[in-house]
Amino acid sequence: MNILVTESQYNRVVLNEQTTHKVLFSDNNIEISAYGLDDNKSGAFILPKPHGIITIINKNNASPIIVNIEKSSPIFQSFDGQKKYSKQIPPQKNNSFKVEFNQSIGEGNFMGNLTFVYIVPGKAPVLKSINIPFVRKGTVKGDEIKKQNETYYYCKSNYNSDLLKSATDWWRNWLLSKSTQQRFANTFGYNLRSVEKIFIEYLKILNQIKFEYVIDNTKSNAGWVRPLWKSGFDTPIIINCGPANEYPKSERLNFIIHEIQHLLSAYHRFEHPSQDNFFKDFFDFYKDLVSGVFQSEPEDTKFELDKNSDTYKKLYQFLTSQGFKDNTIERIIYLYLWRLRYDEHHLKDLNEIRSSLAELRKTLNLNPNQKITKELLINNAREDAVTMFINQWLFSGKPLSEFLNYYNSLAMGKPNTTDRNLA
Ligand SMILES: [Zn+2]
Repeated sequence: MNILVTESQYNRVVLNEQTTHKVLFSDNNIEISAYGLDDNKSGAFILPKPHGIITIINKNNASPIIVNIEKSSPIFQSFDGQKKYSKQIPPQKNNSFKVEFNQSIGEGNFMGNLTFVYIVPGKAPVLKSINIPFVRKGTVKGDEIKKQNETYYYCKSNYNSDLLKSATDWWRNWLLSKSTQQRFANTFGYNLRSVEKIFIEYLKILNQIKFEYVIDNTKSNAGWVRPLWKSGFDTPIIINCGPANEYPKSERLNFIIHEIQHLLSAYHRFEHPSQDNFFKDFFDFYKDLVSGVFQSEPEDTKFELDKNSDTYKKLYQFLTSQGFKDNTIERIIYLYLWRLRYDEHHLKDLNEIRSSLAELRKTLNLNPNQKITKELLINNAREDAVTMFINQWLFSGKPLSEFLNYYNSLAMGKPNTTDRNLA
């Protein structure tokens, strides 16, 4: 297998997915491969997978090569979100791009054709055609296409520009607050002018966020983002329509606010690196997709809450001692133990806690000057965003007051008890 060495955005996906790759074409100048193929016998893209990766290597030592896709079968819907693909690839470098598949096409085994033309400067264009195998498991005729179209329709009508506007407005309000800016300055030791510069970029990011819609039945997450290194720009929020459609109306806005936090912190952290899992985070490629909730489990190990277990009893006693109300505790523990088993990532990753915090502040309608208090958590413990935050606190093992102080102040882990504004 080739080791791809560019910083191309898809390389990590390729490595993470550990997918089979297949060289589809090779000559003296270029090599074209497909990644994300099924690694069992079929060696094809298995639909309804939403996309695959194509990599083109310029094998030429001296010259850049210009590659265009001239023609493509209707199964290929877009290339990196664009209608056309056209790239100049420097000598000995490669370019990877994403091909989105048209989900309403295909049945059984079939081929999708891509016709490329490549040009080595000073030479005649070379036209090459490749066939990429697909397998559509089950039929997509009639009712299934209809169902899929309905899923997309419902998804797009709920996750629309109004929702995006509400979410970005919430962030704008938060970012334009002087107390937010002051806390940010304190956290990083910046002067307010530098903070303003960063916040202008945040606002620019907010202005250009888009939604992209997929139906990916292999994932139970409602959505995710894929921040490109440290930028945050040109990064759509992917809405996975199946699970996303299940969200009640009130949860949709929280979910988008959560994802936006990931985009903004891809441009600049909200938390000081000394407090953050900065390097780990830098290399996390997808946000919200690294959790374990996709593991299927054998029937006999189905998750159940055991109220007689020592863990349950200890947690119950502890939460009671902290003032949590009897009728909220069972749910808190249930979700905590469920996450411990399937989704520890969202309990411990500080970037995720950051996103939860934004959801919690939205849920409680806190303004940037208001701090989160223990009483607020206790009295709203039934709200999803609050439960999540309580779960994250439990996982931290810190006293509640310390946890709250930190997230209310975010001053390099030195809680400032007189001014706890930012979080
Ligand atoms: Zn997240």
